[in-house]
Formats: sequence, C-alpha cells, structure tokens
Amino acid sequence: MSMNREGRPTRPQDAEATSETFTGNRALMLEEPLLFEIGDATLTGVDLEAAPQAESRLGGLERSRPIGLAGLSEPETVRHYTRLSRQNYAIDLGLFPLGSCTMKHNPRLNEKVARMPGFADVHPLQPVDTVRGALEVINELAFWLIDLTGMHGVAMSPKAGAHGELCGILCIRAALEARGDAREVILVPESAHGTNPATAAFAGYRVENIPANADGRVDLEALKERLGKGGEGDCDVAGVMITNPNTCGLFERDMKAISDAVHEAGGFVYCDGANFNAIVGRVRPGDLGVDAMHINLHKTFSTPHGGGGPGSGPVVLSEALCPYGPIPFTAKTKDGVVHLVEEENAAEFDHNDSFGRMVAFHGQMGMFTRALAYMMSHGADGLKQVAEDAVLNANYVLRSLEHVLDAPFGKSGPCMHEALFSDKGLADGFSTLDIAKALIDEGYHPMTMYFPLVVHGAMLVEPTETESKAALDQFIGALRSVAARAKAGDKSLHAAPVHAPRRRLDETAAARKPVLVWREPEVAEAAE
Ligand SMILES: *Cc1c(COP(=O)(O)O)cnc(C)c1O
Repeated sequence: MSMNREGRPTRPQDAEATSETFTGNRALMLEEPLLFEIGDATLTGVDLEAAPQAESRLGGLERSRPIGLAGLSEPETVRHYTRLSRQNYAIDLGLFPLGSCTMKHNPRLNEKVARMPGFADVHPLQPVDTVRGALEVINELAFWLIDLTGMHGVAMSPKAGAHGELCGILCIRAALEARGDAREVILVPESAHGTNPATAAFAGYRVENIPANADGRVDLEALKERLGKGGEGDCDVAGVMITNPNTCGLFERDMKAISDAVHEAGGFVYCDGANFNAIVGRVRPGDLGVDAMHINLHKTFSTPHGGGGPGSGPVVLSEALCPYGPIPFTAKTKDGVVHLVEEENAAEFDHNDSFGRMVAFHGQMGMFTRALAYMMSHGADGLKQVAEDAVLNANYVLRSLEHVLDAPFGKSGPCMHEALFSDKGLADGFSTLDIAKALIDEGYHPMTMYFPLVVHGAMLVEPTETESKAALDQFIGALRSVAARAKAGDKSLHAAPVHAPRRRLDETAAARKPVLVWREPEVAEAAE
C-alpha cells in the first residue's frame, strides 16, 4: 500500500474497499497508466514500410540503441491524453478560488481574435513592413495601458509578472546609476509575493522587510523611519516594492503618502500590479506616485494561464523612469505610422539611455491581442465594472464565511478582490491542508493556502468578477460545510480527498525528488 509521509494512502484502491472496481475506474473517473505502460517500443502505431538504408552523414554520432518510445495507435494516443485531461481541474469546469492568481473566465471572443492568421501566424523575423497591423495592436494596447494607469510610458516586452518586476527594478537601477547614486536596499513588505524579494535580490539589491500594522497594511511610520536612517542625503534605499491592493486583499490607503516619503528620500516606487483587476478603471497608480508597475495581462486582462504560462507582464513607467525603459517598444510618429524602436533606431526616437533588452523579440503577441480584445469588448464602463464586481464578490465570500472561518483582517473594513482566512479556531490536529483537500472532494480546486506568510495557515480566496451569485453560494456552502467539519474535529477529513483520482501525495518528495523520466521496471528496481 502506498502511503505519504503522514501515513495517509496515496491511491484510491487503498481507501475503503467499496470504491474498488475490476478496472480501477470509478464511474466516469478513468484510471490511466503511463504511455510506456500502455504500449512498448516493440510496437508501432503506424503502418509504414522500413526506410531504405542510406549512408549516415553523422560521422559516428548516430544513436546506438533504439529511442525506446512506446508505440501506440492513434485511438490509443487520443484516449490517453483525453483521459489525462479529464483529471485536470480547469476554469472551464468550475470556480477556481486561487487567491493572487486571478483565475477568471476567458471570453471566447479573445480566443477568436488571437487566432486570426494575421496575428497568430506572424513571425518575429518578418520584415517590419509586413507586420504593420500587429504593431498597431501592440501600440494600441500600450496606449490603453498607459491611459488606465495614468503613467507616462510602457515596456511591452516582459513575458510575465516576475519578468516585469525585473524590468521595473532594472529601470530604477539605471535611473539611480545615471545620477551616480548607487543604493543598495529595496524594501518589501512581509506579505509580498515571493517574486518581489526574489527580483530585488536577482537585480543585486539587499532586501529588507517593511513591517505591517495590525490592519494588514504597510506601517507608514516605520517606513518613514527606515527611509530617514542614515541621515540627511544619505539614504541607501533604492526603492520600495509594494503590492496594491496587497496580498492580504487590502487596499494600501497610504499609498500616496508612501510614494511621497520614498521620493523625498530619493528612492523609487515599484508597485506590484498583479491585483490591478480590483481597481482597474477606479484608481490610476500614476496618481498614487508609482514609478513602475507590471500588469499581468494574463490575470487582469484575461488569457488562459496556469501551469507555467503563457504570460505577459508589460511595465508602465513614470516620466522619471521612461528614458531607461527597455527596447524594443512601439512609437507612433505624426504621420500615423507605428514604428518598432530597437537598437538601430533608438537615437532617432531619443531613447539613448535604455538599460537594454529583456527578450529576443517583441513580447507575447497572442496575449496582446487577447488583452486588447478584452479591453475593447468591455469598454471603459465595463472595465470599471470588472473591478467593482471582483470586489463585491470577494466581500460576499468574506462576509458569508467570517462566522465559520477566522478572518484576521475582517474588522479592517471591506476587502478588495480576495478574502483572507486563517486556521485559527479549527479543532486540534486540523489544518488548512485538511480544508483544502476536502474542497477537492467537493469538486473545487483548493484556494491558495499558506500564503501570504503573515497569516497563520492562510487561505486566500479570490472568486473573481466572472462568478455568478449561484456559483458563489455553492462554493460558500461547500467551504462552510468543510470548515464546520474541521472545527468539530471530524476525523474523516484527514482522509480527504476520497473521491479524487489520488489521495494525499507526499508533496515535499514530489517537489524535491520528482520522477521525470520513465525507466523500464527492471532498470528502476535495480537502481533502488
Ligand atoms: C502572479 C503574481 C506575481 C507574478 O506574476 P507571474 O506572471 O506569475 O510571473 C507577482 N505578484 C503577485 C502579487 C502575483 O499575484
């Protein structure tokens, strides 16, 4: 019997005998072996004659053994991947409450537009004259991103939020270097997404924490004190990285005062804009004194994401940072033509101080078209409603559950787009993990857990604006029921999930010692 480290079974057949079937399948939940266990290298799924022997031109470097791929027929292959796909949870199957990730419905219209051959089939090495339409799209999207954020310019090429963070921090570094002011420290709140301190460290800065107040927001006084350390004109703080709304789901109300204090000390303000969907159309980060902010197009402006991509993280920049922004970018001249500004023509466009390039080509065309389609189909009023509905839905979840689950900042007023709970009040021996696993049995992907780190056993729920009240009510009902079981000490919760294809995995081993290569059973056994 296979067990995880806590002694809980990992396979369905290890649980109650009642779930056993001859096939291992349970109704429409089909067990699926690996490709190599279905077919083997001696079989072939295709009916081709052996290729004629030709003289090798590889100079002795040819493969000495067969490649060992399993031979499968087309129906076997199709079934394999279709069965696997059915074991996935997806936003098109149900509510995806992951906080911080903004997993919302992706309108099909975006997909249709992104697949138009003029956009989908462009090649990054095509002559610029043949991709005028694509450049127009990039430039138009850039215009709206600048308009929505109240900023001065935008770097479109970063390929994800974290990449955008690096872009923004490199702009800050270039701006400081240009004035001969080498500073060493970036301040980051404790609740920050892990990419923030990682980015600052990657860019060569020392990371220091900004303390939070009891409200779950940046402690302005503590920040001011830190900025003042070192005395007049001797500040070592290059900048701050602040997420707004923050990862506790709260709006940083002091943002303008924070920016003013940082600017006064000669530093720059980086805003993590991953949560922009909570304020789009309502708040312009530029008005809050932000110098650089990435926008996760794949979160705020829709695009199917997860599982590592694809993403797109344009960075809007203040007037002070714009001269240092990366190439390439698009610029429209008076004659209405959109140009691609690169190394060769940067001087022509007065962009000599760029810190350089982040990517080989021009960014994520597929995401640009989706984001622009999303913006255009929503319009100004629709985008504002996105923010309002995201906040409304999260507050509905917060207020519906705060009597069952501890809401550490519930008293700080309404939340923004995500509701945060802690494990306080669960029966002894019950944890956030038990709740998350039981949600799988209820047919939901679990919420974000154990993040942000500032809350014990955190559960971060982001329902997003695209869920109906009926869908929210069902989710709330499920979470309420599971939470009640955890508070009452219902031991059966420890076995959850019991209805899923697998039980609890040894997640640490899976992350630290992943088995990524299939080996023939005898070889694998010999190696053990
Ligand atoms: C998602 C996220 C990021 C990182 O964005 P990626 O596109 O995944 O690189 C950074 N900060 C916050 C708050 C996020 O939610």
